[in-house]
Amino acid sequence: MDELDKPDDARREGRSLHEARAAAGGDRGRLGQTPFGAVVVDLDGQLVGYGHNTVRAGRDPTAHVEIAAIRAAWRRLGAWQMLSGSTIYSSCEPCLLCSYVIAQIGFRRAVFAARGADVPGYKPLLGADLGKGSAWINAQPDWAPLEIVADFMRHRALEAIAAFPWAQAQTRAPLNPSR
Ligand SMILES: [Zn+2]
Repeated sequence: MDELDKPDDARREGRSLHEARAAAGGDRGRLGQTPFGAVVVDLDGQLVGYGHNTVRAGRDPTAHVEIAAIRAAWRRLGAWQMLSGSTIYSSCEPCLLCSYVIAQIGFRRAVFAARGADVPGYKPLLGADLGKGSAWINAQPDWAPLEIVADFMRHRALEAIAAFPWAQAQTRAPLNPSR
């Protein structure tokens, strides 16, 4: 999948990658979080939410990047039904926790750059993530279908992942992105 063929997707995936770099401290040096970003775009093409992984900063184990972006979008639009049919762009493949939320809300599309397996230490529940989850979702007659666009601008996400101090992160100590 070439980003030149899909300029709208490229712009929005670029925003999620920008958020990933900002989370890790690359652009604004403010969060010291893992290098993931996500944005939500509604049916009208408006960006209605974005987020970072704030598991550490918020001491919240469910504060994954996709959850943060969906929370922000829901609060902005006022009702989850307004999110039905939206698209989520993530710098990395959503895990099963986030995949379930994406499916429950009724997102129409999910676009992501890196694969879960690209992240050091990644241990997916049931050995699955959104790629496998969507195959199951799309086989269910009473679930909203979900289009997946995988590996979109993957090289840029891999750069952010490669630049991150994963060994330091695994100590659970506060992150210092300058080290
Ligand atoms: Zn997740």
